[in-house]
Amino acid sequence: MTKAMNVLDTLAFACMLDTSINVIVVYPTHLLYESIKQLFDNKGSAFLMPDKRLIVIDGDVVQQPWFTKNHLLIIEAHELGHLYTKTDDERTADIFGYKLLRKKNKLNAAKIYARLIYDRYKITIN
Ligand SMILES: [Zn+2]
Repeated sequence: MTKAMNVLDTLAFACMLDTSINVIVVYPTHLLYESIKQLFDNKGSAFLMPDKRLIVIDGDVVQQPWFTKNHLLIIEAHELGHLYTKTDDERTADIFGYKLLRKKNKLNAAKIYARLIYDRYKITIN
């Protein structure tokens, strides 16, 4: 059998928190995954391409057994935090993202995000 390199191994959809933004998940079997992976390694499990209004998410993270829709919402909220506040600062994006989830009534995701923010910065947010 030939080992197929799949260029189509992605999933694309509108961001749940802002439908003017697109989200693309790139899975490890994708032809270009290895080169994109370096960006994930620098920036975490996702990154934002502001001029393309696109969030790119690491499919390796999405396919982990612990990953839920709430984790997807947290990633989206975080990247929108970078977009809306026009900053690369992670803490600013996290806090903005948390508030956005609250505002959009995504309370389960917000609860998980609050724990994550506590673990990262030792601050209690509400
Ligand atoms: Zn970030």
